[in-house]
Amino acid sequence: MEGRVGPIAVIGALEEEIDLVNAALCDRRTEWAGEYRFDFGTIAGTDVVVAHSFMGMANSAAATALAVARFGAGAVLSIGTAGAHNPALHTGDIVLGSRTVNDNSHMTAHRDRGSGSDVGAWEVMGNEVGVCGSPELRIEFFCDAGMLAAAQAVPYGGGRLVVGTVASGDVWNKEIDRIDALHRGRGSDCEDMETFSVAQTCWQLGRVPWLGVRIVSNSEHFPDEVFDVSVAQKCQAFALDVIAALA
Ligand code: SAH
Repeated sequence: MEGRVGPIAVIGALEEEIDLVNAALCDRRTEWAGEYRFDFGTIAGTDVVVAHSFMGMANSAAATALAVARFGAGAVLSIGTAGAHNPALHTGDIVLGSRTVNDNSHMTAHRDRGSGSDVGAWEVMGNEVGVCGSPELRIEFFCDAGMLAAAQAVPYGGGRLVVGTVASGDVWNKEIDRIDALHRGRGSDCEDMETFSVAQTCWQLGRVPWLGVRIVSNSEHFPDEVFDVSVAQKCQAFALDVIAALA
């Protein structure tokens, strides 16, 4: 993050996850890349580009690649809602995603026809990235330390503010045994469908600094805590303060 060049990119999947940030853009202008909408402007005097990525890993990777390679973003925030894995977390708590793992990347052992499937036995495979042009498998990515420190210093009154691990995948887990296995085995505190692919793309495009800012919007641990997209407003208000702190 030291000596950042280019705008801060904000990647959000749902309109409800970016509308407040968009409304805060000074001198807002819009540009499209196919179906992806990018809104440009300044917040606290710094250039910001907000991507409406749509949901999921491929969409968030594409939007991040465009934000960085076409629009020159020098830092990336993956913002929005998430489901709790950590039973200590409740709706409204914010996880600063300092680490992210992929809930989609597995290799299964051979099983004979008729012997079924056991997701608990699946091995984590890792995702390929380049290291000086050679492929390496990575099972996790870590955020930028400076962005994390700046975000940690931002006050948040809407719930707890914790540093943690975001598990991402094109999957919405509601099986509590599966959620517990991810929490215990992979160290995940919450799950979304974007942060890992944002981080992987940032790696591939020159180790662009990134940070996840994810608000808990649902928790299978508590029957009352069903998906509530309205908490995305609190996440955005916090993200605006993070942007100001980074400016
Ligand atoms: N429009 C949908 C809701 C989509 S929520 C509906 O109500 O039918 C999916 C988005 O929210 C994804 O972008 C993901 O990042 C986030 N999300 C929130 N909670 C999640 C969870 N428990 N698992 C996976 N993604 C979750």
